[in-house]
Amino acid sequence: MTLTSDEIRALPKVVLHDHLDGGLRPETLIELAAEIGYELPYTDPDMLAKHFVANANSGDLVRYLEAFAHTTAVMQTAAQITRVAREAVVDHARDGVIYVELRYAPEQHCEKGLSMQDVVDAVQTGLEEGVAEAAEEGFGIRAAALLCAMRHLDKSLEVAELALANRGTGCVGFDIAGPELGFPPAKHAAAFALLRDELFPVTIHAGEADGAGSVSQALGLGAARRIGHGVRIHEDIEGFGTETPVLGHIAQYALDQQIPLEMCPTSNVHTGAAESIANHPMHELRDLGFAITINTDDKLVSGVDMVSEFEELVGAGWTTEDLFEATLAAAWGAFLPYDERADLADLVVEGYGMDE
Ligand SMILES: [Zn+2]
Repeated sequence: MTLTSDEIRALPKVVLHDHLDGGLRPETLIELAAEIGYELPYTDPDMLAKHFVANANSGDLVRYLEAFAHTTAVMQTAAQITRVAREAVVDHARDGVIYVELRYAPEQHCEKGLSMQDVVDAVQTGLEEGVAEAAEEGFGIRAAALLCAMRHLDKSLEVAELALANRGTGCVGFDIAGPELGFPPAKHAAAFALLRDELFPVTIHAGEADGAGSVSQALGLGAARRIGHGVRIHEDIEGFGTETPVLGHIAQYALDQQIPLEMCPTSNVHTGAAESIANHPMHELRDLGFAITINTDDKLVSGVDMVSEFEELVGAGWTTEDLFEATLAAAWGAFLPYDERADLADLVVEGYGMDE
């Protein structure tokens, strides 16, 4: 029995990997740009959305990144940032998401005088407003923030300190984002050492533009509890996709520790980390027992949401039970206290009508 769109929308979902600056509503981007006289390639929401997806799918990183120049340009005041965060939560709630961790790099929103702490405050206000607005619409959702440092820049220690200063007030984790190749976690060793000493949750983009060695460094030096994407961890599995796969020590560790891999199916195809949804390594990794989770990454840039990503996977043969397992892995992988993760897991079990 195939799931209908409405049935998929109704399923509880948990999002661990979604960038605030990659997920604006096209209408909002156009409106905010008009307010500040910023020029966009299109002022029609559909044309603009199509333009971004075409760029994302072009295989050209410069074109892919163009979208972020536009989105961050209109996220430089507290009001703009709060609005984007609020809408992100509401949009996810409408798609059946019961918990979302939204990530962003504070340093990218300081061009017009905001401090990084101002940015964190503006996002937090937006998350709270979004949760309240979703509740008014009848949706129960929780939202938290992850702070990213840009891996090609030098603010990671400062961002790590900022994350610690905002611990317990909606900021639940740390990540490094941006170009993976050439900018390994080792370049940010001081930040990771501090966070490790403070037992603060870390997830790291790895195994997307670089191979399994990058995942190894994220887990070791970065002490990451989750991996952003991690698609290329399959490169550490000899005979991957055959009857007799042999796991290297990196893949074995991720499997043994049940490290949640934050897969973003469409985005992974757009960046070339996966060849297609049908041939995405996540299916095989799931069958081997890895803790696969399903995420959006950049809703606007890749033209996706959680409903469309679930639909893509169902099209690739995923069953309701597969979706359930991935969602449950995400619930347990959330950077939340144990009892709150257990509550999330209960909601997932209940929503799927499954036994844990
Ligand atoms: Zn990402």
